[in-house]
Amino acid sequence: MSATKIIHSIPSDPLTGSISVPVYQTSTFIQDAPGVNKGYDYARSNNPTRKALEDVVAGLEGGHAAFAFATGLAAIDAVLKTLKSGDEIVAVDDIYGGAYRLFTHVYEKLGLNIKYVDTTIVENVANAVSSKTKFIWIESPTNPTLKVSDIKAIANIAKSINALLVVDNTFASPIAQQPLALGADIVIHSGTKYIGGHSDLVAGLVVTKTQELSEQIKFIQNASGGILGPWDCFLTIRGIETLDIRYRKQCENAQKVAEFLLKCDQVDNVYFPGLTAHKNHEIAKRQQNGLFGGIISFTLKDDTVAAANVFVTNTNYFKLAESLGGVKSLLCHPPQMTHASVPREKRLQTGIKDSLIRLSCGIEEAEDLIKDLESAFKRVASKKLVQAI
Ligand SMILES: *Cc1c(COP(=O)(O)O)cnc(C)c1O
Repeated sequence: MSATKIIHSIPSDPLTGSISVPVYQTSTFIQDAPGVNKGYDYARSNNPTRKALEDVVAGLEGGHAAFAFATGLAAIDAVLKTLKSGDEIVAVDDIYGGAYRLFTHVYEKLGLNIKYVDTTIVENVANAVSSKTKFIWIESPTNPTLKVSDIKAIANIAKSINALLVVDNTFASPIAQQPLALGADIVIHSGTKYIGGHSDLVAGLVVTKTQELSEQIKFIQNASGGILGPWDCFLTIRGIETLDIRYRKQCENAQKVAEFLLKCDQVDNVYFPGLTAHKNHEIAKRQQNGLFGGIISFTLKDDTVAAANVFVTNTNYFKLAESLGGVKSLLCHPPQMTHASVPREKRLQTGIKDSLIRLSCGIEEAEDLIKDLESAFKRVASKKLVQAI
């Protein structure tokens, strides 16, 4: 969808001509007679501000409908609730930590079986599925090592066994990647990240391909009630107005920063799908519209938590915080932050070394971001020197 189409898919208010979507801050709607209303009866079931957001997001992903939830995890939870005990999910092995926690500590207890495989190798998926598989669940690119899976090929496997392909599209955003067009059935977003884009809200979105799936998710949204409130719907819509221009700038910045990191002698590995050396570069190029995202991870030659600590506490523009995708650059140390609950051994298996640092590039000037990182590298080097003396 072009920036023009995105911006003009956001409706004005037919009642007043208000060019921005009004915040319908109400719990209920007055009825003319029992069951006779203007399309809205109770704000858990529906709300005009939420409806506007949901319609815009359905358009962004080319879906039949979209549904807004209180957080990304509430969106994931709603999709899981369409399953029943005994059903099976084949999921990407370095899935978002919060999704892993929900799968393992809530839904396995309720009888779902979840198998984890490296979905960048399509054969792994084909070998893992069974007649009980209801969902193949992927993220692409993944967090924090930016692995990219072939959505089209995996969608074909899902079709062949009558399962659904669910894609968490948070990192790519609808600007870079539209999984439904590649054969996926359900798309999930943490609206907290690129879609909201200003680090000022938490939100989740589910986009469905068919009317049947829309009805299922709509039912759960109303039955479980984890909806996004009208004010946060308004803010999310406001974020979407600039999604295209923000995301493109973030990609541009990340490309420059990744190329800078490649040349740093203190850096060991750089994970960024926009680098030709990235093992999934070709597939990323093909399915991500030439856009590689704003997230980069890298490790230090001095592969220690201590060195990473010096680095992440000595940047100025990159703020040390969890989350990503906002206009301000952020950095984090996954082993001690987002992935602290994953045992070290398991972290090392998925490439999360002790010194791994994740950057989320914002929309500042790339030159400033690079200077910021340069000065943090100098601090790491001088600390090392002091220790040696
Ligand atoms: C942050 C994130 C989530 C969870 O979203 P919340 O809004 O924090 O609940 C899910 N998937 C991915 C890929 C994320 O980055």
